[in-house]
Amino acid sequence: MLSKDLAVNKLYIIPAGHGMLKAFFFNTDLGADNPQMLYSPLCVYLLDTTDGPILVDTGFAEVFLNNPDYYKGTPLDGLLYMHMKEEHRLPELLKRVGYRPEDIKLVIATHFHSDHSGGNPYFLETQTPVLVQKKELTVLDDDDYSPPACRIKDLNYQVIDGDYQLCDNIRLISTPGHSPGHQSILINTASSGYVLLCIDAALTEANFRNNAPYAAADPELAAASLKKIQTTAAEYDAFPIFGHDEKQAKAIKVYPEYY
Ligand SMILES: [Zn+2]
Repeated sequence: MLSKDLAVNKLYIIPAGHGMLKAFFFNTDLGADNPQMLYSPLCVYLLDTTDGPILVDTGFAEVFLNNPDYYKGTPLDGLLYMHMKEEHRLPELLKRVGYRPEDIKLVIATHFHSDHSGGNPYFLETQTPVLVQKKELTVLDDDDYSPPACRIKDLNYQVIDGDYQLCDNIRLISTPGHSPGHQSILINTASSGYVLLCIDAALTEANFRNNAPYAAADPELAAASLKKIQTTAAEYDAFPIFGHDEKQAKAIKVYPEYY
């Protein structure tokens, strides 16, 4: 499907809104009754490759559009607020880089949470391949898992099970725990060398450097996945990009800069 030797000429980080979340999501040792709310930046990642654009994740579900109180009256009431504006809808995010959804060659879905797969409906009509881990498909019928837009059944899923070398310069790394079929991505970029998109296998630098435990469906699996990405980053001397780290998000290169 993709050329084995495709080059990733540019890895763009595109800011896609933010959440305000209880601190325990980032460090479960704090306990659910810790009152602090933390700023949680959200990004999607666009790889400009010699085979065309590859998109990693699709941002917020549009149920959050100008509606941070979406979870009011639900078990998540008071625990998290998602802040999404018109400019964070997937077509608007892609337009910034000069693309439309139908231009995307491949979507890599890291997991089906509300802030990672919200733009997936844009790939229903196009039947763009969506690369996903087999175990993440187990949540498709779980209405408590995420808004329906994140759990579309009839996408053109390309299902993998475990680590997967997509091509010489892109490796999918199975990192379950945060969600059943979560995956991270190791990318060898043309100008910056190896970059590791931890996604939610390390929400913050404190998870990655200090092993602070993050919110996970399976904490034991999540701890093993954290070790796995630490080892991978060391092995490839890769620059780790964390899923939702406020401090790193301010320091990192975002579109129009690139890695
Ligand atoms: Zn996330």
